[in-house]
Amino acid sequence: MMLKSRSAKFTRYLAATIIAASFATIASAQTADTILFNGKILTVDKDFSQQEALAIGDGRILATGTSAAMKKLAGDKARLVDLGGRTVIPGLTDGHIHGIRAALTFGTEVNWIGVPTLKDALEKIRAAAAAQKPGSWIVVAGGWTEAQFAEKRRPTPSEVAAIAPDNPVYIQHLYDWLLLSPKAMEALNIRDDNDVTPGGKLARDGDNKPTGIIEAGGNALGRIFDKLPKPTMEQQIDGSKKFFREMNSLGITGIVDGGGVSMYPASYQAVFKLWRDKQLTVRVAYHLCSPKPGSELADVQNLTQLLPPGFGDSMLHFNGPGEIIIWADWTDGDITPDGKAKLAEFLRWAASKGYTIQLHWNPDRTVHDLLDVVEGIDKDYPVRDLRWAVLHLYNASEDSLKRMKSLGLIWGVQDGLYFGGERLQKEVGAEQARMMPRIATAMKLGLVVGAGTDAHRVSSYNPFVSLQWYLDGTTIGGTKTRGDEEAPSRRQALEMYTRNSAFMANDDDKRGTLEPGKFADLAVLSADYMTAPVNDIGKIRSVLTMVGGKVVYAAPPFAER
Ligand SMILES: [Zn+2]
Repeated sequence: MMLKSRSAKFTRYLAATIIAASFATIASAQTADTILFNGKILTVDKDFSQQEALAIGDGRILATGTSAAMKKLAGDKARLVDLGGRTVIPGLTDGHIHGIRAALTFGTEVNWIGVPTLKDALEKIRAAAAAQKPGSWIVVAGGWTEAQFAEKRRPTPSEVAAIAPDNPVYIQHLYDWLLLSPKAMEALNIRDDNDVTPGGKLARDGDNKPTGIIEAGGNALGRIFDKLPKPTMEQQIDGSKKFFREMNSLGITGIVDGGGVSMYPASYQAVFKLWRDKQLTVRVAYHLCSPKPGSELADVQNLTQLLPPGFGDSMLHFNGPGEIIIWADWTDGDITPDGKAKLAEFLRWAASKGYTIQLHWNPDRTVHDLLDVVEGIDKDYPVRDLRWAVLHLYNASEDSLKRMKSLGLIWGVQDGLYFGGERLQKEVGAEQARMMPRIATAMKLGLVVGAGTDAHRVSSYNPFVSLQWYLDGTTIGGTKTRGDEEAPSRRQALEMYTRNSAFMANDDDKRGTLEPGKFADLAVLSADYMTAPVNDIGKIRSVLTMVGGKVVYAAPPFAER
């Protein structure tokens, strides 16, 4: 709250100077309304060149260069910002996140992201129970794992019931486990495995009574989640504003949204409202998932009648179908012949219409099914310029990556193994895990590798935590699972999070680097990303974030204390 009002004050101040300066811009196209000087500006241009200062006019970058040269471009009323030697990066873009969904409930859910102990996590439940009315739901919808807790364990139903006896409590772990308090079991009327289909299993105690723990996958968990009361439209809008500001505080200025389980046409009303009211502080490129199994292609054909490729503007645009295309391929295992045929039919249609696609795929063992389909379509409708991205695929082999490269597919690598690395090590052995994911190999092959988090059910949305993991391959529990031979360099990791993710959003001509003509989307960092110890990269924050030259977040010294 404090920070918000501080940054609002600064924004008003800056807005006034920009309005004053915009008259000067008419006189000379090269007159800047804002100058950032005395810094270390990582432009992330093709040479990864570094500059001391940057001039902004009318929301775009006019020029970069020395402090003296940039100050010469300043109009009479221009705002001069002394960076004090700080590092500036292009605003970060999360190339695959369920941000619109996370935003809807950000104001009403209990957030366990980054909480260091189970004791603190339970304290947040206790505080929510004290603040809310008896009978109202307390929801933790993911973003945590027991490896982050000093206690190294998950909560039990009885300890949750003890601290929130009068509220139904829902605590989801990734897409594999759910804890429901007794009140929640009662409210949802869950008595046996038939109530948690498909594939869910109730854990039972010695008396064969359900304990409240449910082992289930994404599909079943989505169905249970859909039964929870929805936040009101006002709560959704408030949550969305807060979530996007939170993203701004972490240097995020853009997202590629993957839709996701439990996302329906009505789920987009809050983000559209912020967009229409010009209150969106993150650029959104959104994908549209098939809403239900069975009629995927017909549903998406219908929904996209009014959504041609790229429909929208520079703050929000439609980026194409995905990540759930055909529900049959969303099983993380084998796809049936029928499912494969339906996938081919869907993708052929998408290619013929020129849509960008996001494709969820695990594991490498079955990705040939997907690549066969895409190769078949490519003969009739070349897909290489459509920016289709394969997501996840943490165990991609070199052969699969070569096939992806020859089709011009993008590989979107998320930091899921930051949470799941130890489990992977157990499954495949330490030696195999060292090669997962093969980021350096993919880059050597020339693939565009995009960055992102897949937050917030399965991971944290913090891009600096993600950048740290790309560089050191070390999990939240402190286990180094991936070897350095597959690590990107700091430069490459930053390129993944800026220009490559902007490429996934079909926006690389407008943003993702700090070059003249591009939007002034940038973040001034609390520490130097290029020289900070790797272990400290996850702690970096933005102290000043701009979207189109407008301040969307400011912390001291750029906001009044
Ligand atoms: Zn996803």
